[in-house]
Amino acid sequence: MKPKGLPDPKTGFEPYAAVQLRQENLMADAYSLVGFQNHLRYGEQERVLKLIPGLENADFLQFGQIHRNTFINSPKILDATLQTRKNPKLFFAGQITGVEGYIESVGTGWLAGLNAARIMRNENLIAAPETSAIGALCRYVSNVETKNFQPVNITFGLLESLPPELRKKYRNKRERHQVQVEMALREWDEFLLEIQRKNTKAQSINV
Ligand SMILES: Cc1cc2nc3c(=O)[nH]c(=O)nc-3n(C[C@H](O)[C@H](O)[C@H](O)COP(=O)(O)OP(=O)(O)OC[C@H]3O[C@@H](n4cnc5c(N)ncnc54)[C@H](O)[C@@H]3O)c2cc1C
Repeated sequence: MKPKGLPDPKTGFEPYAAVQLRQENLMADAYSLVGFQNHLRYGEQERVLKLIPGLENADFLQFGQIHRNTFINSPKILDATLQTRKNPKLFFAGQITGVEGYIESVGTGWLAGLNAARIMRNENLIAAPETSAIGALCRYVSNVETKNFQPVNITFGLLESLPPELRKKYRNKRERHQVQVEMALREWDEFLLEIQRKNTKAQSINV
């Protein structure tokens, strides 16, 4: 709800917060309010949300609810190839593995699909580079040591941290993130080339 870059056209001032309305139907008469999962009583939600300028006369078709993800205990079950340790022909991907979000689910789905195809062709399974976002997510869900495994979105915190000499060189967080992104993109390109060459030298695991 950060208002950055959204000055009020009437006043030129940035508001305290901005809410996003996402169109829900073709007739464009129903919108969802992004990021308002909450467990307030419905009457209270209506009262509070009507305080938002522009929503004073809104009709509420559905109120916010907290959702609960169902997920497996991936660190005990999965390898970073997204294959189950017990049954090599069984793969998991997406939210059920403990990643959260559209991109995270698509990314892990891509890797699990790729590996499922590779196993059918008797090829080595592959793990994504650990510097990359997909690699970091797969490493997290398959390896994290915790008694209370919980779903994660991708963040810079999940990426492999920079070696000490680079951390010393780049003290500013933004610069460090930039270097992490550049490293990830470089390794990702190499990883894709390796796949194309069908030479799975990078972190291959024999089936
Ligand atoms: C209210 C809400 C808002 C969200 N907003 C965002 C957002 O803004 N940005 C973002 O990145 N993420 C958002 N997410 C999270 C995102 O939706 C999920 O992380 C993502 O959709 C998970 O994708 P998935 O393919 O792994 O699982 P799903 O999208 O849940 O797909 C699983 C599919 O499997 C089907 N299925 C289940 N059981 C069976 C069965 N036994 N047989 C056959 N099919 C079955 C289900 O019907 C479903 O279609 C939101 C989630 C919620 C609940």
